[in-house]
Amino acid sequence: MPSNVHVVGGGVIGLASAWDLSRNGHDVTIVSPAFGRDGAAWVAAGMLAPVNEAEFGESALTALRLEGAARWGTFAADLEEASGQTIGYDTTGTLTVALNASDRAYIDDLLAYQHSLGLTARRVGATECRTLVPALSPSLRGGIEVPGDHQVDNRALLTALVGAARVSGVTFLEGRVAEVGPGPELVLADGRRLRPDYVVLAAGTGLRGLGAVPGLPEIRPVKGHILRLGPAPGAPASPFLPRTVRGLVRGRSVYLVPRHDGTVVVGATVEERGDDTTVQAGAVHELLCDARAIVPGLDEMELREAAAGLRPATRDNMPRIGWTALDGVVVATGHYRNGILLAPLTAGAVVDLLARRAIPPLIEALAPA
Ligand SMILES: Cc1cc2nc3c(=O)[nH]c(=O)nc-3n(C[C@H](O)[C@H](O)[C@H](O)COP(=O)(O)OP(=O)(O)OC[C@H]3O[C@@H](n4cnc5c(N)ncnc54)[C@H](O)[C@@H]3O)c2cc1C
Repeated sequence: MPSNVHVVGGGVIGLASAWDLSRNGHDVTIVSPAFGRDGAAWVAAGMLAPVNEAEFGESALTALRLEGAARWGTFAADLEEASGQTIGYDTTGTLTVALNASDRAYIDDLLAYQHSLGLTARRVGATECRTLVPALSPSLRGGIEVPGDHQVDNRALLTALVGAARVSGVTFLEGRVAEVGPGPELVLADGRRLRPDYVVLAAGTGLRGLGAVPGLPEIRPVKGHILRLGPAPGAPASPFLPRTVRGLVRGRSVYLVPRHDGTVVVGATVEERGDDTTVQAGAVHELLCDARAIVPGLDEMELREAAAGLRPATRDNMPRIGWTALDGVVVATGHYRNGILLAPLTAGAVVDLLARRAIPPLIEALAPA
């Protein structure tokens, strides 16, 4: 039955949930200090990478990522139609390359692990790598081609989500939620009190500031530095790389995600430093060194932005999606490195939860309880 729902958090999970709830007939208000312009989602790279993100010992998370990736084609088409905007959804595939022999040995182990999970990935030699991406350094030791790892322009995605949510009738309420109480009731930092039928908590790392909500998962912030490079003045604003390139450089991971306008997103560090979002010279230096080791032509590009964001992570790196112990309050958080990838799946699960429909076992296992 349609109801009055307040979504807390204007990042990718909150916006995708608000839009999906609204197009499913609910009366939706989204409450946040900003909408699609801050948080981890704004700084992110936008990779939709269930295969390359598969790490040893994470088979449950891999299954979730694959399910998340499967939703993207329809979600992207629906969103572009509803918002009238393009979101840079690109299904060209990804190439992961190795700088030296020990990097090669590591990615070969990773390839064997990917195959053991039934994932599609193919070993390619150095020459073929350079055929696929001519800008690669000639000294690389080959790589892995992954056709199923895609990307979206995360900033275009956020703008389109705001647009689609507005068209669908979502109310945007600027403010910071300070407390969530029984009712459910939301108390804003400026003292305003709101009494919706249902609340969806999707404030990323901001969830830690909402007081003691029973059943809320413990969230830790994981810092990531990221860079945005653009074509040099006078150079054509066309894609510098034909596909996303990930690399292992002396044991360190780096990625280069090309946008249609010629921008390249270079990321990202993974650091446990609490709430610190300072951009540090050492991290910028490290990212640039690793990126130019695999694509030397980056030297010619303009460094346009260096930023750092906080990924919301749980103890086991799995998201938490489900009812909290507070009546009428759902939580959707802990998406760690995969919030963009998992946004359509999460939003669909939030709609199912509020409709009291059965949800897939894969999502049921993510209930905070
Ligand atoms: C460097 C980096 C690269 C990444 N790359 C990728 C990638 O390639 N692919 C991918 O899938 N994921 C990626 N991620 C992860 C992804 O960005 C996150 O998983 C995702 O943004 C989490 O979404 P969220 O909506 O939960 O949180 P956020 O995007 O952080 O949004 C939280 C929102 O809640 C609001 N908020 C906070 N506190 C309150 C409050 N008290 N009241 C109301 N609102 C509040 C904030 O203002 C913000 O709008 C990356 C992250 C980083 C940092």
